[in-house]
Amino acid sequence: MTSPTIGTALITGASTGLGAVYADRLAKRGHDLILVARNAAQLEPLAAKLRAETGVEVDVIAADLTNSDDVTRIEQRLIDDATITLFVNNAGMSLNGGTLENSAAEIETIIALNITAAARLAIAAGRAFGARGQGAIVNIASVLALAPETFEGVYSGSKAFLLNLSQALATTGREKGFHVQAVLPGATRTEIWERSGKDVDAFPAEMVMSAVDLVDAALIGLDRGEEVTIPPLADEGQWDAYHAARLAMGPGLSRRDVGERYRVTEAV
Ligand code: NAP
Repeated sequence: MTSPTIGTALITGASTGLGAVYADRLAKRGHDLILVARNAAQLEPLAAKLRAETGVEVDVIAADLTNSDDVTRIEQRLIDDATITLFVNNAGMSLNGGTLENSAAEIETIIALNITAAARLAIAAGRAFGARGQGAIVNIASVLALAPETFEGVYSGSKAFLLNLSQALATTGREKGFHVQAVLPGATRTEIWERSGKDVDAFPAEMVMSAVDLVDAALIGLDRGEEVTIPPLADEGQWDAYHAARLAMGPGLSRRDVGERYRVTEAV
């Protein structure tokens, strides 16, 4: 039965891949669900299955998050529905080809989904949770936020954007009583690869995680109170060192004086 206190989880991109696994796992934890994706025909059977298996309430919303009016509808639900305690900001896409190979329309579409919608919805959830003094936001970024040299740059840049936004929002959340977690998956076996014309099996098998393992690990990270969760990273100390090195630069990043190496030398 649904716990009266655990609340509702709103998941974008819930029809396949990581979002569908989040739906399953969160229903089993007792969350009522609001599932969002374009393809309602794919969401409905998942919703029916989860209702039957777990007894939770499941709402389905068909929305194309590259469409501003559709994003507004989801923002409004996050703000108006006080039962929502968890927002999984998961919907995302990748592009075919390399950084120089996509059309203007394709670049605008990925930015609309991975950046504009993701930012608007995270901020709407932040406002709602801040006003209620509780809640958690899970932003699905990517390890490519840390490895831009290895992939198409608009996709990796969109995920770096989401990591950056998460870290900023986590700071605000600590003051206002809500939690923000960025999840950075490595290559994970989902439909995103086929949808963007890529073969995930081109990677060595030991580089590709299952969607179930990824989500289960990310939920353990959430339970641990992590603000950044990198499921495939075996040595947590590597992230801690990277994070500490970045923070150590902080006091030197805005100064009146230019660095010594940039000083204009007087012509003699
Ligand atoms: P997926 O299986 O392709 O799932 C993407 C989900 O987003 C689907 O539910 C899809 O449903 C929905 N979606 C796509 N375009 C949409 C739109 N315009 N409006 C609303 N919903 C839309 O991919 P996935 O791997 O699970 O991706 C989930 C997240 O993980 C993404 O943010 C992705 O960037 C990130 N990620 C994935 C990997 C990986 O290797 N799989 C690695 C790092 C990060 P509809 O088509 O029905 O709309």
